[in-house]
Amino acid sequence: MIKTASTVWNECLLFIKDNIKQQAFKTWFEPIKPIKLSGEVLTIQVPSKFFYEWLEEHYIKLLRVALVKYLGEDAKLIYDVRMENNYSSANPHTVKIPSANRNPINQRGFTIPVDVNKRELKNPFVIPGIQKLKVESQLNPNYNFDNFIEGDSNRLARSAGIAVANKPGGTSFNPLLIYGGVGLGKTHIAHAIGVQIKEKYPEKMVLYISSEKFTQQFIDSVKRNNRNDFIHFYQMIDVLIIDDVQFLSGKTGTQDVFFHIFNHLHQNSKQVILTSDKAPVDMQDIEQRLLSRFKWGLSAELQAPDYETRVSILQNKLFRDGVEMPNEIVEYIAKHIKSNVRELEGVLISMIAQASFNRKEFTLSLTKQIVDKFVKNTKREVSIDYIQKIVSNYFELDVPTLQSKTRKRHIVQARQLAMYFAKRMTKASLASIGSQIGKRDHATVLHACKTVDNLNETDRQFRKYVDDLTKKLTF
Ligand code: ADP
Ligand code: MG
Repeated sequence: MIKTASTVWNECLLFIKDNIKQQAFKTWFEPIKPIKLSGEVLTIQVPSKFFYEWLEEHYIKLLRVALVKYLGEDAKLIYDVRMENNYSSANPHTVKIPSANRNPINQRGFTIPVDVNKRELKNPFVIPGIQKLKVESQLNPNYNFDNFIEGDSNRLARSAGIAVANKPGGTSFNPLLIYGGVGLGKTHIAHAIGVQIKEKYPEKMVLYISSEKFTQQFIDSVKRNNRNDFIHFYQMIDVLIIDDVQFLSGKTGTQDVFFHIFNHLHQNSKQVILTSDKAPVDMQDIEQRLLSRFKWGLSAELQAPDYETRVSILQNKLFRDGVEMPNEIVEYIAKHIKSNVRELEGVLISMIAQASFNRKEFTLSLTKQIVDKFVKNTKREVSIDYIQKIVSNYFELDVPTLQSKTRKRHIVQARQLAMYFAKRMTKASLASIGSQIGKRDHATVLHACKTVDNLNETDRQFRKYVDDLTKKLTF
């Protein structure tokens, strides 16, 4: 018999009917219309957005079992949602939304065995006094491989991530270090690996943490005098994901403790995944022994996506949000926003918001307005390295001279200006700025910032330096 949308759906209904209460069946399944079958993808029409959300929340497992039964493992479901009619036109329009088909996040935790007879294990994620410890993996299920678009710019990192997710600790990619500029998908891939591991190996202890939070937990543990519990907790993890390790720069205590945790995990074939905004060779103020370990496994770079990938990312996002937008508009956005996927998404979100709040159509002129604003408003995030280069150039010095110990007045001023701009234009701490600009301490940086502020008010020549450099750095 030839399969059509209705034959498949009727089979599914028979199965569903057997598995839920009659009233629920009447309410939630009878109103659904099967409208299209192509390959393993079944599209069903539901009466409202609320209806779709309810199905996703309450019946997705049942739907999945039914679909797999009649369409096979690769079965996919798409909802055709009739939208409430708020544009005062006569015909309600519909949008298509794919089933997320994911388990709710609360199944992603893991429990840590605690021997009740021994003294209580302290770990940084737990309120003291609770015996059975449930640790959340801190993973975001919205960051997964299904919605991470592949392109030349990310192929290596993506496939290495998938390999690691399929065999955590069992590939030579240990640690897996993913590096690249802002907004290129490092955090997304890091979560996706964790999410896939939890799906495949639910019993594994997976933990995602930013290196800032890790540092804070470590500092707290030292204050509370339970550094060993902190280390012990992290040594029990099966898959440790640390995001933005460049923040460990200059923090020797945290690096030291991480070194011990890393060694323990690595020796026991536990998987470590790291992300960073620079390649290991460019990382500053990370101890040599730790750096050399970062290079043990695989370092994979994420580059800025090319035009085709940008178009696919936009189209995929629109599809998932159930929004339709003319191609020429999508292409316009992809042509003008080039270096950062987060901005690409930002433009799309503003467009959708503008169009729905102000009841505007998606037109090319609206798109131009929004893209323009975006390009102007998003200050380029500058790095401390870049600031040092620009300042050195401006004063016709080279960077090592700027960083040197010399007390020559014009060099001191250049160095102070570099520190001042680093404080103003990056999120780095005083200590980290100091350590990157010629290994000074935080007090020196603070002093530099105050000096520049003062001179900027009292010295005309100096104010010109500040203005010129501001222009060069913010262009
Ligand atoms: P980073 O951590 O490198 O600064 P993120 O992982 O936070 O960047 O990514 C920024 C945004 O761009 C996120 O919303 C992410 O989902 C999205 N993104 C990045 N790369 C892709 C891709 N290849 N496909 C789909 N979305 C992407
Ligand atoms: Mg990130």
